[in-house]
Formats: sequence, structure tokens, C-alpha cells
Amino acid sequence: MIFDERSFYSEKPNFSKRDKEKLAKKIIGNINKVYKNSRLSSSYKFELAKVRDWNFTGGRTLASLTKLYRDNKASNKKAKLDLHILQQYYKLDLLIAIIGKDSSSKFAGIANGTPKYHGYANSADFGIVFINGYKNAKRKYVISHEMGHTFGLYHGKAVADYTGIDIHYKTNGFAKGANGFGKVNTAKKSNNAYTTLMSYGYLKVSKARANSNRYSDKTRKDCGYYHNEPCGDDNANAVEVLQRYAKEYGKRSEWYK
Ligand SMILES: [Zn+2]
Repeated sequence: MIFDERSFYSEKPNFSKRDKEKLAKKIIGNINKVYKNSRLSSSYKFELAKVRDWNFTGGRTLASLTKLYRDNKASNKKAKLDLHILQQYYKLDLLIAIIGKDSSSKFAGIANGTPKYHGYANSADFGIVFINGYKNAKRKYVISHEMGHTFGLYHGKAVADYTGIDIHYKTNGFAKGANGFGKVNTAKKSNNAYTTLMSYGYLKVSKARANSNRYSDKTRKDCGYYHNEPCGDDNANAVEVLQRYAKEYGKRSEWYK
């Protein structure tokens, strides 16, 4: 877990080494909880490898950082950027990079998907996730949601329908099953709206009715407010996808090569 020296400390000037370690442990704990809730504990276990500060190369906004690291990786340049080098040096499957609050971005975090970087998962990436500021780092499901993206998962049909934007939902090739699942909140006090993790934050589901602590799973029918709704379908079956590719995801980083 890497904190951007230049921007993170402008948001949290008095954040001590101990605070950082506490936050990092909380984040890892949150991720493991989600994977346990998703019944993925036997395939995935997350451990904290290293906490440190670094002056990230490039801009300070989520957009500029993402573009920089993504482009560098996509073009397969020999000269690697600093975070890629750190990832290799510390042998990290996933590098979580926390920047100071970037108000110019509406995103809580961004996973660096590189389309077609892997043959098996079009949008699975090389394992660097940027988190937008302290508050988002603390939020329970942000990191696991972004992690889903680094593993190639999409937001799903309910989000595509709700926003009218098709890219939230992909069902061809690898993406079969790699979607979140949810139901839109049509009536204000409706109890029937809910989401799984990848659709989380998009469907205006009230907290009391959200069920965002797990990935979609078509074999389960205990989602929703009354725990009696489906948690997925043929195209939203992320748990199966995550199980199937667990070994490959673990070997994305270049230090395995
Ligand atoms: Zn997302």
C-alpha cells in the first residue's frame, strides 16, 4: 500500500506512520471480509506486504495518474514507471496507491484496466489501483469493487440500463458472467432494490437495503433486503469467474516471469 507523499499529506497533514498502518490493515481486512462473504476464502487470501510513502510520477489527479500508468503499460515500454518498479521490487500482486482527495474526479477509485493485456481476461490488468483520498480508502467496499475491475469484472446490466451506458455490461467471451447484479430503486421507499458489489454505488440503493458485501453469484438466492432475491444470473456470476481464474490473477505481476 503506497501513499502519495505530495497529495495525500495535503489532505491529511498529521497522518502518522501508525495511522497509515492502521488504515492499511483495515483495508486488507475489508477485502478479506468481502471475499469471505463471497465464499471465495479458499481461493483468495490478501495480506499486507508493505506500507510506504512515495512521490508518484506524473500528475496529482486520478485521471492523469491512471492515464500515465495505463499508457505506459499498454505500450509495453521498456522503461517502467516508478509504481511498476515498486510493484516488482516488493513482489506485490496488487499495489494500492492512495492519493489525496481529487475533487475533479467523481470516482472513488480507479483500477488500471488494460484491454487485451491478458488473453484470458480482456480487462484484467496488471494490478495497480488508485484510491481517491482518505475517505474513500476508509469506505468498506471501494477497494474490493476496484479489485473486481482489476480482475476484469464489469458493473452489470442494471447499471447499464440505469445510466444508459453500454460499457457497464459485457457478456461476450471472458466477460460471460463477469458482471455485477442489482435491481434499481424505482420507488423511494422500495424494499426491493439491491446490488451486489460491482453494481454498488450506481443504483441509488439506500444503505439499509444495499447488499453490497459480495460479488454476484447465480447459485445464491439470499440477496436483497429480505435475503430472498437472486444474487446473479448467467451473465452475472462473478464468484465463478473469480474462482476459475484465481491462479492466473495471482500471477499477473511481472515479478513472476
Ligand atoms: Zn466500478
